[in-house]
Amino acid sequence: MLQLNGIQHYAYCPRRWALITIEQVWQDNADTMIGQYVHRNVDNPFYEEIFNNKIISRSVPVFSYKLGINGIIDVLEFHRDSKGVELTGHEGYWRPFIVEYKKGRPAKQRADQLQVVAQAFCLEEMYDICITEAAIYYVKLKKREKFYINDSMKSEVKQIVQHMHALINEGKTPGAEIKKNCQLCSLKDLCMPRLTIRKRSVANYISNSWEIYNEEIPE
Ligand code: SF4
Repeated sequence: MLQLNGIQHYAYCPRRWALITIEQVWQDNADTMIGQYVHRNVDNPFYEEIFNNKIISRSVPVFSYKLGINGIIDVLEFHRDSKGVELTGHEGYWRPFIVEYKKGRPAKQRADQLQVVAQAFCLEEMYDICITEAAIYYVKLKKREKFYINDSMKSEVKQIVQHMHALINEGKTPGAEIKKNCQLCSLKDLCMPRLTIRKRSVANYISNSWEIYNEEIPE
């Protein structure tokens, strides 16, 4: 099973995901620290609020055997709805609605949304229900952005997860690609994209070093 929050890292940069997951490296920057702080407020699995037509649960564990992923949903609301599912200890039917907490801005939302779509996949499998909408709460903006989950997002997530499993099985970290994202990436110093992007064969390295060595030794 792969961690579903990896989908967000993979969508940001496949190499970033592989460095974290395959090579087990991590480095914080200001953004990641703020992100952890934001999640401290919602990471309480024992906290549940019950209203007439809504139940709010936090840090809900979810999984999908079909995709081979598991993880945590920050906030899972259950809205009273005749098309919903039955919940132990609660009368009636309830429709699950995901709310993911993010510190950033909607501009970065594609990766954020794909992570939520993966969570929806898990709920669909666990509850045998179809999830068509979800929301991301942007803490900085104090704003909840609802979005619809469509088929193209679902196939993108399936594809990403397949690639992730393939890379894990091969134990392969993709090469660096210098892009705008590198500037904000907390792993920039460990990844060294400018160095790793240069393809130098061992044979070339030895041959160049040999030439330099010979040049330095006076006849
Ligand atoms: S520095 Fe750039 S290439 Fe390296 S992991 Fe980060 S985003 Fe990817």
